[in-house]
Amino acid sequence: MRVLVTGGAGFIGSNLVGTLLARGHDVGVVDNLSTGRRDNLAPEVWFRELDILDTALQDAVAEFAPEAVVHLAAQASVSESLRDPERDWAVNAEGTRLVAAAARQVGVQRMVSASSAAVYGEPDEADLPLKETARKAPANPYGKSKLAAEGLMAAELAGSPTDFASFRFSNVYGPGQDGAGEGGVVAIFCTRLRDDVAPVIYGSGGQTRDFIYVGDVVEAIIAAAEASGSLASMGSGADAASYNISTGAETSVNGLLDALRAASAKMGEPIFLPARDGDVDRSSLDPAKALGAFGWHAVAPLERGVTSTWRWFGGHA
Ligand code: NAD
Repeated sequence: MRVLVTGGAGFIGSNLVGTLLARGHDVGVVDNLSTGRRDNLAPEVWFRELDILDTALQDAVAEFAPEAVVHLAAQASVSESLRDPERDWAVNAEGTRLVAAAARQVGVQRMVSASSAAVYGEPDEADLPLKETARKAPANPYGKSKLAAEGLMAAELAGSPTDFASFRFSNVYGPGQDGAGEGGVVAIFCTRLRDDVAPVIYGSGGQTRDFIYVGDVVEAIIAAAEASGSLASMGSGADAASYNISTGAETSVNGLLDALRAASAKMGEPIFLPARDGDVDRSSLDPAKALGAFGWHAVAPLERGVTSTWRWFGGHA
C-alpha cells in the first residue's frame, strides 16, 4: 500500500511510519516540523517539509499518489489553542478540509483523520465509557476545531470515491512522545522519574483518563486503512464516520504513577498542586464501534505499555 502520513514526523506519526515501513509499505510524509523532527523518520521515507495550509499541498499529494492518506498533522496542544485559537482553527479545521480536498482530487481510496476525546468535553458520568453518539461539548478551541474538522472532511468527501473515517483518540502514550513541554502525562512523569524530579499531580490524582498505548493506535490506523468495507457510513448522523480509538478503561492519575513507579523502580513521591481549570474529572471512550467495523481492539495492558515507554525514556535524556 502507498500511504501518505501528514504529521508523520510527530509522536504518533513516526510510530506509524516505522511500523508501515517494517511491513513493506511505501510511505510518504508531509510535515512542517513545527513539533515533529526529521530524524524521527528513516531516510527511505519520501518526505516533503510543507505546511498543510500551503498551496503546494495539492501537488505534493498528487506527486506521491497515495492509496491511503492518514492525516495526523495538527496543532495538538490544548493550551496553545487557548493562546492562539485562530491558528488552531486554521491548522485543525481548515487544514483538514484542504487535506481532504487534495485526497479527493487525487482519487485516494481512503482518508483516516485524527480527531480527539476533546470533542466530548466534560462527560455525563452516567454515559461513561462514552459512545461516539454521546453529547459533544468541547471545552476549549482545540476540541472545537477537532469537531469541526470531522464535519469538514465529511462535507468534502461524502459522495466521492474516497472513503473516510475520523479517529477520536483517547490519551495516547508511548515511546517518542515529547516529555519536555506540556505533552502527555505519561511522558512528563517518565522524564521526571528519569531525572529524579518529583512528579506533579494537579488535584487529588483521582481524576481518570483512558490511556492507550501508541502501538495499539498504530494497529487501529493500519486496520482501518486496509479494511475492505466503507468506514464513512457506519450509522447515521454526524458521527457515522467517527470511531473512538481507546481502551474503554479508566485509570486514575495516581494509578498511572503507581504503574510507572513499579516499572521504573523509582520512588517518585509526587507533589500535589491545585487542580487546573478546564481539566475533565473522568474520561473513557467505548471502542466497540471500531471492533465491529474493522476488527480492532487495544491489546497492550497499561503495565506493559508503561514498561516499554519507561525503557525508551530511560535511554533518551
Ligand atoms: P505531534 O505534535 O507529535 O505530531 C503532530 C505533527 O504534525 C508534528 O510532526 C508537526 O510537526 C506536524 N504539524 C503540525 N502542524 C502542521 C502543519 N500546519 N502542517 C504540516 N505539519 C504540521 O502530536 P501527536 O501526539 O503525534 O498527535 C497526532 C495527531 O493525533 C494530532 O492530530 C493530534 O491532535 C491527535 N491526537 C493526539 C492525542 C495524543 O494523546 N497524543 C490524543 C488525541 C488526538
